[in-house]
Amino acid sequence: MTYVQSLRCRECERTYDIAPIYTCEWCFGPLEVAYDYEAIAANISRESIAAGPETIWRYAPLLPVDPPGASTLPVGFTPLLRADRLAAELGLGELWIKDDTRNPTNAFKDRVVAVALAKALEFGMKTLACASTGNLANAVAAHAARAGLHSVVFIPADLEAAKIVTTAVYGGTVVAIDGNYDDVNRLCVELASERPWAFANVNMRPFYAEGSKTLAFETAEQLGWETPDHVVVPVGSGSLLTKIRKGFDELHKVGLLDAPPAVRVSGAQATGCSPVASAFNEGSDTITPVRPSTIAKSIAIGNPADGYYTLDAVRETGGGCAAVTDDEIVEGMRLLARTEGIFGETAAGVTIASLKKLTQEGVVRPDERVVAYVTGHGLKTLDSVAPHAGVSVTIKPTLEAFHEAFPGEDE
Ligand SMILES: *Cc1c(COP(=O)(O)O)cnc(C)c1O
Ligand SMILES: [Zn+2]
Repeated sequence: MTYVQSLRCRECERTYDIAPIYTCEWCFGPLEVAYDYEAIAANISRESIAAGPETIWRYAPLLPVDPPGASTLPVGFTPLLRADRLAAELGLGELWIKDDTRNPTNAFKDRVVAVALAKALEFGMKTLACASTGNLANAVAAHAARAGLHSVVFIPADLEAAKIVTTAVYGGTVVAIDGNYDDVNRLCVELASERPWAFANVNMRPFYAEGSKTLAFETAEQLGWETPDHVVVPVGSGSLLTKIRKGFDELHKVGLLDAPPAVRVSGAQATGCSPVASAFNEGSDTITPVRPSTIAKSIAIGNPADGYYTLDAVRETGGGCAAVTDDEIVEGMRLLARTEGIFGETAAGVTIASLKKLTQEGVVRPDERVVAYVTGHGLKTLDSVAPHAGVSVTIKPTLEAFHEAFPGEDE
């Protein structure tokens, strides 16, 4: 059983029965899942969570759908790694990396898709669909295959080749759109009103978005039920950032934390697509849509659906918002790999480069416990680092040749 009360409009608070819907009929605000937190508090404890599965479903009372049956991919409970070598390089104290590359399709999108899929199964829907910048398509195709649903994913035609292959291999329908993500999304909004499909991030969005909260739940549990002082989160639509903040607040609401969380939330964007960072840094209340042009394609959303809520979350918590260039993104990917042995994709490069920038600006401080979210695997965006990572030397297979190339007596 779940503790869901209704869907509720984020703007006017009108409530709706649970259904595959996502906007308020009155004010066109986004719908969110409303829970009975008192009932959850009475039915959840650190012990009950510890006794649960090592997946996102250990937090089932705080999710909008019951755990699905056996034929689903296990998602979540990814490592939280102390990153002392990266911290030293950046001049930080206590730094942790939440390594969400370690999910079934190697990105955090497995979390949101797992929740959307469970809800689609409950609604009796037969096709899982999405508008994707790449990783969501990966996850939708894989999870649908495992659950025996059809999948139809829509992507911008210029996506990285690796992301197309790793999606198409699951056998669903892959529709490339001659346009950018915002064009793809617009088409999917139209299709969602004429097809009985579960579009993970359109008509299923209120449920889908809740999956991102599990990143906050796991972080707190892995820190011994304490919260970080500061988190750095990559921003595409802004859903992930706002839900990580919501996740920490909910843990306190249901009595799982000893103290109210005071987590500063900072955003990370690429300068080639930084509508939220631009508004933040200009002190503006208006987010101006942009035409994306960056190697960080997974977060290249020019007109972010949750942009205003993201701006609010960053401002209300005293965080910052950085934008970094494509060169800085590649340098961020290499820095993380070189210091911690973690190979993240371009969005991870955005996060690490933004962490560096925010630290230099004094926004992220050495006295804080910091968590940076690495949300996708580097093998998905190999092309971006390929020019910077090759063999050290090519030699003949003889000792002589080796000695010639390496005359020193290194350890
Ligand atoms: C989708 C995605 C994000 C951002 O998610 P939003 O919820 O749209 O802000 C971050 N990192 C990666 C790797 C993604 O695929
Ligand atoms: Zn409304």
